[in-house]
Amino acid sequence: MSDKKRILIVEDERQILESLKDFFILQSYEVLGASNGDDGLALGLESSPDLVVLDIMLPGMHGFDVCRGLRSGGYSGPVLFLTAKGEEVDKLTGFDVGGDDYVTKPFSLLELHARIRALLRRAEKEQPNEEVYAFDKISVNFTTYDLKVDGDEVRLSAKEMELLRFLVNHRGQVLSRDILLEKVWNYDTEVSTRTVDTHVLNLRRKLRDSPPNRYIQTVHGVGYKFVGGL
Ligand code: CA
Repeated sequence: MSDKKRILIVEDERQILESLKDFFILQSYEVLGASNGDDGLALGLESSPDLVVLDIMLPGMHGFDVCRGLRSGGYSGPVLFLTAKGEEVDKLTGFDVGGDDYVTKPFSLLELHARIRALLRRAEKEQPNEEVYAFDKISVNFTTYDLKVDGDEVRLSAKEMELLRFLVNHRGQVLSRDILLEKVWNYDTEVSTRTVDTHVLNLRRKLRDSPPNRYIQTVHGVGYKFVGGL
């Protein structure tokens, strides 16, 4: 089962729409795009995305009205508004119509991605993370820290277990070394991206994930992607 997140981007500036699409596809999201409000509303209601990125100034239907329409149509996922610098936007109205956050253009893709991740995390809070995960001949219990590989008990360090848990909970997603440092090591100043690589190597060895890696794939120039059980 894939846990790829589906994002709908509603944006009338073609160049922005295309670059957002390219970026988020590269980050392993499933991306849908619409270039006007009416299409965005229709697509949002029929495709139940995990999150909607919604430009406010759109030809035809205004972004606020698209958001209202999504909410009255039963869409309950996060909506992040895009607003252009200098545009007079009443942020309170945006929240009133059911928006969750704003990003002002021009924005950095990394900032937008960080906001999106935060919104998705918030939306996911009610869903408990996996306690037991099994794939191929491997099963791991994150509560008892038991790992079995092909019937053998394998011991992981606490950090290796945390790393494995993060990878499993984000399976199918490309995870940069920086994200892993942030999430698994909490930006500990003592560690570098080399620490991430070392732990991944150890984890692969213990999972008997020898090249070509079937579980923890290397994404060159970026980081890693866990695909065990997908
Ligand atoms: Ca616009």
